[in-house]
Amino acid sequence: MQNMKKIFVLGGGIAGVTTAMGLKKLGFDVTIFYKKRAFSAYEGFSQKTKEGLLLNACKNASNLLEKQSLRNANWGETQNKVNYEFVVSRVLLDEALILDAKEFKIKCIKASVVKNTKFLEKKAVILYKKDSITFEAEADFIVDARGRFTPFKDEYINGPKSFSLLQELEMPNAVQSKTSIDSVEDGWIWQAYIGEKKGYIQFTCDEEAANKISNFQQMLEYINKQSLNLWSLEGSKPVKKLVKRDSFCKIHKTIVSDKFLLVGDSASSIDPLSGNGAFQALSMASVAPYVINTILNFPQNSETAKSFYKKRVEFIFNKFSKVGKEFYNLESRYKTNFWQKRQTWPKDEKELKKVPRIEEEGILKDKFIYPNEVVITENNPMGVWLFNNIDVVDLSKYCLENNRDKALKYFEEFCIKNSLIDKNIKILKKWLFSQKLLQFEV
Ligand SMILES: Cc1cc2nc3c(=O)[nH]c(=O)nc-3n(C[C@H](O)[C@H](O)[C@H](O)COP(=O)(O)OP(=O)(O)OC[C@H]3O[C@@H](n4cnc5c(N)ncnc54)[C@H](O)[C@@H]3O)c2cc1C
Repeated sequence: MQNMKKIFVLGGGIAGVTTAMGLKKLGFDVTIFYKKRAFSAYEGFSQKTKEGLLLNACKNASNLLEKQSLRNANWGETQNKVNYEFVVSRVLLDEALILDAKEFKIKCIKASVVKNTKFLEKKAVILYKKDSITFEAEADFIVDARGRFTPFKDEYINGPKSFSLLQELEMPNAVQSKTSIDSVEDGWIWQAYIGEKKGYIQFTCDEEAANKISNFQQMLEYINKQSLNLWSLEGSKPVKKLVKRDSFCKIHKTIVSDKFLLVGDSASSIDPLSGNGAFQALSMASVAPYVINTILNFPQNSETAKSFYKKRVEFIFNKFSKVGKEFYNLESRYKTNFWQKRQTWPKDEKELKKVPRIEEEGILKDKFIYPNEVVITENNPMGVWLFNNIDVVDLSKYCLENNRDKALKYFEEFCIKNSLIDKNIKILKKWLFSQKLLQFEV
C-alpha cells in the first residue's frame, strides 16, 4: 500500500534508519538525509542490540556485530569478567545501515541538514547542503534522528555534564579481543582491542577536566595520574586526533508534535556508562512509526499517540539515568566532584500512585495508537493490556476490586470463556500472582 504522505528522516544512524524502515513498511514516502559521522568512534553492543538490528531487517549492520570481546570491569573494589560485547566502528555501522535502507528501497540523500526545520501551516521545510549548494525541501512530517547533534540546545533537561575523550590506537602487541571498564578518580575509562592491531581508549570525565584536555599527550598526563594499568597503552601509538564527545544524560522537552518527532539520542540520550544507548534507540524506533501513522492518518487519536510516545521516551530516560546513578554508587573510594555529582543525580523520586492499578493510556493496535485501559504494575510501569495475546484488563480490574475467593472464581470462568488450555491457565495465574493482582492465600 502506498501512503502518499511524505516524511523526511534527518540522520541515518540506528534510530533514523530503523524508524525509516518502519515508516516505509506502513507505506509512507520516506527519504533519509544522512551525512558521514563527524568523527570515528567505537562502541560496545549487546546481543540484544544485534537481535534488534536483525529484527529490523538491518542485515548489513548486524553482520558487523560478529566477534564478541570479553568485557572486564574494575569498578569500585571489585574486578569481574562481566560479559561479552561486540565492539563496532560507528562509521562502518552507519555505512551498513544506509546500505540496509537502500536495499529496503528507501530514498537516501547524502547531505547535511542545516539549521532548524521551519514549520508552515501544513508542511515542514528543511534546508540541506549537498556539494556546497543549499537546497530546500518540503515534507508532511519530520523525524529528527541526528543524535546528539539535533539543534534544540536550549530546550532540554540534563544531568551533570560529562564528556568522553576518544583516541584510536595502533597496538602492535595486542592479540586478544577484549575490552575493559575501569573507574578512576576523575571518571572512568573504557579500553578495547578491536582487532588488526588496532585499539581504542575512551576517558569519560567532568566538563571541567575535558576543557583542559585537547590532545592525546594531555589526556595521557591526566590519566597517568590515576593508579591503573592501562593495557591498551602498552607499546601503542595514537592514530588520528583525539575526539571530544558530549556524553551526558539529556532529554528534550518537546519530543513530539503534529509535525515532528525526535527519536533515539535526538530525543533523549543517557550516560554511556549504562552501555545501552543503541538498544534504546531501537526501542524508540520500534514504536515511533505507529505514533506518526496515528498523527498523520488518524488525527482524532493524535493526542493519545503523542502522550504514548512521550511517556515511553521519558520512561527510558528516567530508568537508565537511575541505572547510571546506581553504577556510580558502586564506587566508594573516590570523593571527587566527578563522583559526587553523579552519585546524587537524578534526585530520588517516590512513585506516588499506588500499583497495581488500572488507567487509561495509549495502546498499539492494528498499526495505530488508541486510548485504552491498561494494567499498571511494578514490572509494567507503562501498562499492559495483553498477556499471551489475551486481553487481561477486565480480569485484572475484577481481581483488584474483589476479594480473593471471588477473584479466583471469576478467573476460572474467564479461562473457560477464553478456552484456555491447562498450560496457559497456569501461566496466567502465575502472572496474576507475580503482578500482585491476585493475593496468595495467607
Ligand atoms: C562516548 C559515548 C559512548 C557510547 N558507547 C555506547 C556503547 O558502548 N553502547 C551503546 O549501546 N551505546 C553507546 N553510546 C550511545 C550510542 O552512541 C547512541 O545511543 C546511539 O548511537 C543512538 O543512535 P541514534 O541513531 O539516535 O544517533 P546517532 O548514532 O548519533 O546517529 C545520528 C546520525 O545523524 C547524522 N547526522 C548528524 N547531524 C546531521 C545533519 N546535520 N545532517 C544529516 N545527518 C546528520 C550523524 O552523522 C549520524 O549518522 C555511547 C555514546 C557516547 C556519547
